Formats: sequence, structure tokens, C-alpha cells
Amino acid sequence: MLRFALGALLIVMLARAFWKVVDGVVEGATGRSRGGRAAQTPTRLVRDPVCGTYIVPNPSLSVVRGGATVYFCSDRCLQSYRTR
Ligand SMILES: [Zn+2]
Repeated sequence: MLRFALGALLIVMLARAFWKVVDGVVEGATGRSRGGRAAQTPTRLVRDPVCGTYIVPNPSLSVVRGGATVYFCSDRCLQSYRTR
């Protein structure tokens, strides 16, 4: 009985490994991942209004002004914008 249980477990593990490989092949062939990485648009750059640098939007360095979110390159620019 134990032998049967171990055998069944082994089959399940092999089946899982097999489907993982199949998934990987399908992902590679279609260029699509289930996480939707390929479907994502390329990162949009925004302009830091203080120093004028184009940066990748960082939610921790942002301020909402007039319904729009303004992003900054650094905490220094953020503070300088706030105190304006
Ligand atoms: Zn800046």
C-alpha cells in the first residue's frame, strides 16, 4: 500500500514537472507569459518639474496636484516642489 502511495506521488510529481516544461515551451513560443509581462506597455517616462530630468515614475516620490500625479527624481526635488 505504501509502495502504491509513493508510486502515485511520483507520478503526480512527474506530471507537474512535465506541465511546467510544457508551459515554459508555450511561453517561449508565443512570447507571452501568464503574468502578462509582455502585454505591459513599456515604462513611460515623466518629467520632473523641478530639475527637468526625465525619470521612471516612482510612487514614493510623487505628489498629487490638481488631480494629476507629479513625479520627482529625488526627495530633494519633491521637497523643493512642495515648499514652492
Ligand atoms: Zn529632480
